[in-house]
Amino acid sequence: MDPLVRDGLEVLMAVAVGGMLWAAIGRLRRGQIRPPMCPSCDRPASRASDHCKHCGAPL
Ligand SMILES: [Zn+2]
Repeated sequence: MDPLVRDGLEVLMAVAVGGMLWAAIGRLRRGQIRPPMCPSCDRPASRASDHCKHCGAPL
């Protein structure tokens, strides 16, 4: 195979795989950005903490 064509195919593969990874990361981040709502004060709470950072209520 022409080395130029092989290089081109490798670049295309890298771009395709990178694009798929990027899309997966984007989906993941969008899912994580939406935080749980505090049942007590109805404000977005941090997923990292067990308690609401606004009113301290347990989530
Ligand atoms: Zn709260």
